[in-house]
Amino acid sequence: MAITVPAYAAPSAKAPLERITVTRRDLGEHDVLIEIRYSGICHSDIHQARDEWGGAQFPMVPGHEIAGVVTEVGSGVTRHAVGDRVGVGCFVDSCRECANCLAGDEQYCLKGMTGTYNSVGRDGEPTHGGYSTHVVVDENYVLRIPEALALDVAAPLLCAGITLYAPLKRWQAGPGQQVAVVGLGGLGHIGVKIADALGAEVTVLSRSLGKREDALRLGADHYRSTTDPATFTELDGRFDLIVNTVSANLDVDAYLGLLKLDGTLVYLGAPEYPASVNVFSLINGRRNIAGSMIGGIAETQEMLDFCARHGIGADIEVIAADRINEAYDRVVASDVRYRFVIDAATI
Ligand code: NAP
Ligand code: ZN
Repeated sequence: MAITVPAYAAPSAKAPLERITVTRRDLGEHDVLIEIRYSGICHSDIHQARDEWGGAQFPMVPGHEIAGVVTEVGSGVTRHAVGDRVGVGCFVDSCRECANCLAGDEQYCLKGMTGTYNSVGRDGEPTHGGYSTHVVVDENYVLRIPEALALDVAAPLLCAGITLYAPLKRWQAGPGQQVAVVGLGGLGHIGVKIADALGAEVTVLSRSLGKREDALRLGADHYRSTTDPATFTELDGRFDLIVNTVSANLDVDAYLGLLKLDGTLVYLGAPEYPASVNVFSLINGRRNIAGSMIGGIAETQEMLDFCARHGIGADIEVIAADRINEAYDRVVASDVRYRFVIDAATI
């Protein structure tokens, strides 16, 4: 039977989020019902709730960093059982038959993946995310959270964790590699931990010197302020890989100049305005510019298992649901160390 549950939703672009109820569908053969315990606040939630990327659907219940416990399973479910600790990330379905889905890159489904929220499910109904007490998801899009990870610090791994793990693996961050993480926020701080665990030499590039101690504690080897012009001259040609997590536009050419021959600048941050690049910054030094979006289901499980082995969770501030709007303003002001996580019991 479908259930009605409380949630926090943006009623329209730029309006504060407010408490509403949403309906979770009847449990299908392959569905699991998850009691949500924690839900991370990703900057993408804010971009979408404020319609900064266009095409927003309201009312919108954001949340794609979900950690909880399975409380009911459909008759055909084999991957999860009642009582299992599980997570849900940025998408809850995909076509399962295109080349990308078959390759495990479901996030790039050629027919379009179904977003956890601000999307329309294969049943034609709008999807609603994790700022809620319960969610129903097909078992194939639900991840196992290893025992070694507490649910609150695991929640942000479902988006921020995989968003950094996937490019760090793809571009082979590891021993002997110089990796820079630009922006020390929700994504960036987990990127530092993962790049360090992979064995790379990690530099944090942040606007101020204010996060220096934190960055070194998180595993960075070096820390530089991007407002200091000497940073760009002294680090010229230094990096094999730069992962850019900044939610606003940067001087792309300046960052490309920090790459070695064949180095790559990977865009993870998704600002609302286009970026522009002087092609000579690419030609000179055969440099690459790339982008990367979250990761596939198998890769997300691999990331959770990796984080459990290395003791990597997010650094979080747990908040009650009635502080979501305040938390949004603080994320936009970069006043978060380093991820807000909603305690779903307060919804
Ligand atoms: P966040 O916690 O707000 O972190 C972003 C960081 O960027 C800030 O902490 C700040 O770091 C830096 N920054 C912010 N504004 C800046 C500005 N005007 N100029 C320079 N630096 C600035 O956000 P997040 O949750 O990590 O998300 C970051 C971005 O990634 C968002 O655009 C989000 O939508 C996107 N995202 C993409 C994916 C993907 O799959 N590609 C997945 C999730 C999120 P400092 O204070 O250290 O400078
Ligand atoms: Zn996210």
